[in-house]
Amino acid sequence: MADRCDIAIVGGGIVGAAVALGLSQAGFDVRLLEAGAAPPPAPEPVDPRVYAIAPSSASLMQRLGVWPVPRLCAYDGMQVWESAPERALRFSAADVGRVQLGWIAEQSQLLGALWAALPARVPMTQARVLAAEYGSDAARLQLEGGQTLHASLVIAAEGAQSPLRERAGIVLHSRDYGQQAVVTHVECSEPHRGVALQRFLPGGPLALLPLADGRRSVVWSLPADEAQAMCALPDDDFHQALASAIQFEAGAISASTPRLLFPLRLMHAEQYVRERLVLIGDSAHVIHPLAGQGVNLGLGDVEQLLTTLTQARDERRDWSGLRVLRRYERARKAANIEMIALTDALDRAFRTPVALLPRVLDNGLALLDRVAPAKRLLIQRALA
Ligand SMILES: Cc1cc2nc3c(=O)[nH]c(=O)nc-3n(C[C@H](O)[C@H](O)[C@H](O)COP(=O)(O)OP(=O)(O)OC[C@H]3O[C@@H](n4cnc5c(N)ncnc54)[C@H](O)[C@@H]3O)c2cc1C
Repeated sequence: MADRCDIAIVGGGIVGAAVALGLSQAGFDVRLLEAGAAPPPAPEPVDPRVYAIAPSSASLMQRLGVWPVPRLCAYDGMQVWESAPERALRFSAADVGRVQLGWIAEQSQLLGALWAALPARVPMTQARVLAAEYGSDAARLQLEGGQTLHASLVIAAEGAQSPLRERAGIVLHSRDYGQQAVVTHVECSEPHRGVALQRFLPGGPLALLPLADGRRSVVWSLPADEAQAMCALPDDDFHQALASAIQFEAGAISASTPRLLFPLRLMHAEQYVRERLVLIGDSAHVIHPLAGQGVNLGLGDVEQLLTTLTQARDERRDWSGLRVLRRYERARKAANIEMIALTDALDRAFRTPVALLPRVLDNGLALLDRVAPAKRLLIQRALA
């Protein structure tokens, strides 16, 4: 006998788990299918994967009852520069009357909190979808192990490599940045004082994010061969190279955790919805990590989908029908395209070989720092 539910969510990362929790709290009968194991308890001492969480994402998670998570580090300042720290653009939360610009949170803490809050019947771990059929009455998912699940709507939250997106034949626009991000946590002689540092280098941006235990998390985007060489360096040489690349704004670097590598691509699905299928999170869009916005965009999708589906249901309309799903698509495409365009333009601009352009951008950052209204506007857009 087939199991039946209102909504099947495929993929239990941060975005999938958040939408599963929100929809079950709104009264939908939900199943969450995750191909991997349930998230492990948070590794000690600190998960190497951390995210800059924007205030809008924090407020969604607060409404879901999972915020704050342990070991958050609030950051209230940002320093962004290209040639020299004296010419940096400096943001502060106080510039826009806030206490903080955002928080650095560990992936495992976020996942752990979301999964722990799910009602017992919702998660189906280690459930892989073998085939999907979208009929006029329901979607039918064929699961590993011979089980069948019927749902009025399927939400793909499978991350960048989304089999449901591919099987549905949705066109994906994709470009390889030719870069990889080196990710590690480091100990620095200068305290971070809650300030995130970002320097635009010709090979790609380098960010040092503050952590709750006083260390900093590094995300260093480099051409793929240089990133691999950086990972192979002995610790002392890597610490020297990093301290010098960030122009000693973090002081000397004395220790680091094992370096991880992440290939960087830009991806955008041409459609977010099909009959009985919705894409959210990285299944719909993958952006450069330079603005720290991937999870935040995914949680923006979650917020919009929760609103669209509950509103339609409360107004007794066909909440799983294409007309309603297209409302979600229109709203999120506009917001996501804006961020895709911004991150892509920033990456291209600072890496362009045109001799004069970096100087113009460098002057631009220094100038922006001195024009209070423009700076305020920029911060407000970043926090939206
Ligand atoms: C170096 C780096 C730094 C970043 N920093 C930031 C940052 O500071 N802030 C920020 O907001 N974003 C950041 N991002 C982006 C962020 O990592 C992603 O946007 C985010 O992880 C996407 O979440 P997701 O839930 O959509 O997908 P994923 O995290 O990829 O989760 C997908 C889940 O689906 C499961 N799955 C996949 N296929 C199937 C299937 N067929 N059946 C069942 N389950 C399946 C997987 O096991 C996984 O659990 C960064 C990215 C990188 C590479």
